[in-house]
Amino acid sequence: MLNEWQATLRAELDVLDSSLARLKRDAERGKTDDDDVCAGLEERTREVHRMLEQQTTRLTCAECGRESDEEARGWRAYVTGEEGAVDGVEIFCPDCAREEFGDAS
Ligand SMILES: [Zn+2]
Repeated sequence: MLNEWQATLRAELDVLDSSLARLKRDAERGKTDDDDVCAGLEERTREVHRMLEQQTTRLTCAECGRESDEEARGWRAYVTGEEGAVDGVEIFCPDCAREEFGDAS
């Protein structure tokens, strides 16, 4: 069974994977030469894989720096950057997520 933070990380991985796939497609078509973004996403993807492997890892809020408990109940992951130019994913604690983005629908 996945607990909540693992589910959050898996959701982040899905976003990273699709973003990476799109960036690589764009790169192949010569639409972008933004290797830094690609490298950043790949690094983050490896990091998230590591976090998933290490069951004790806590999430850190991108806004207030607070660390989650093991379950990370209510924590949320958000894609950063513009549409078509995603540059990463940020994790927010429930309080900051509500402050920044409002209640989840
Ligand atoms: Zn926070």
